[in-house]
Amino acid sequence: MVSDKLHGPDKKESELPSPLDPIPSRRKFFQSAATVVAGVVTLAATGTSVSKPQSVQKKKLGMVIDLERCVVCRACVVACKQENKTPPGMSYNPVLEEETGEYPHVKLQWFPRPCQHCDKPVCLEVCPYKAIKKREDGIVFIDPNVCRGTKACVKACPYKVPIFDEGEKYHEGTGVWNEVASPEMGLMEKPGKRVWVGKARKCTFCVHKQDKNGDYIDLPACVKTCMGKAIHFGDLGDPNGKCLAHGEGLQELLKTRKHMRLKEEEGTGPNVYYLT
Ligand code: SF4
Ligand code: SF4
Ligand code: SF4
Repeated sequence: MVSDKLHGPDKKESELPSPLDPIPSRRKFFQSAATVVAGVVTLAATGTSVSKPQSVQKKKLGMVIDLERCVVCRACVVACKQENKTPPGMSYNPVLEEETGEYPHVKLQWFPRPCQHCDKPVCLEVCPYKAIKKREDGIVFIDPNVCRGTKACVKACPYKVPIFDEGEKYHEGTGVWNEVASPEMGLMEKPGKRVWVGKARKCTFCVHKQDKNGDYIDLPACVKTCMGKAIHFGDLGDPNGKCLAHGEGLQELLKTRKHMRLKEEEGTGPNVYYLT
């Protein structure tokens, strides 16, 4: 159960779990592979050189959002908010609206907009502290243990995805009601110990719903809640990859339906497709 992870004991910031830690089975694989895989990394602090395996992307998790099925109910926005316990005014997944054409031939188009978990994430490139990593399943994750709140990613992301947590909109006071879950870090936050305050945060494809092998044991909240079954989610890198929610072949959807991605001209390689 996901909720089991939310009530863990308090931990020092340096001990916080991180979705960037390799999962145990893969850590074992890396340890044995390190003897044969090239890639020398110099540890600046110690001056020691160690062999480290190159990160290999094993999946390309992404979404295919069917705009013809989307009824703009914004249940996905609410579900994401409830799941990730974001403070008031902060949403990981707003539904953007865009007006096209000229009166009277005007069309309103809407786009549920999670993080695009780009192939070439500009957020990652600009972060001076290397707080943003692309995991081997394709998820782009900001590590609050490393982020120092420079807002470089907030300014650079063409999709305006990362949000700087000013820490202003949490409730004040004491009591259990004032604790805030930080599901992606697997803990409960308390006033004065909030992981994301002063850091940038964003959609993680609900990474906390994965098991220790990196498989989803529950669907991302927005995918699960969408009554129109508009949000398909799965491995876009697998030619036979199926939507984890509804079973459709993801590549089949892209082959048979007209589709687009947001701001393709930016060259970031977004992994969220919109069927139009
Ligand atoms: S829940 Fe589904 S139908 Fe409603 S706005 Fe989100 S994507 Fe569209
Ligand atoms: S959408 Fe923005 S925050 Fe998300 S991976 Fe791409 S560049 Fe980074
Ligand atoms: S995948 Fe999770 S974090 Fe991302 S928009 Fe959906 S509910 Fe929010």
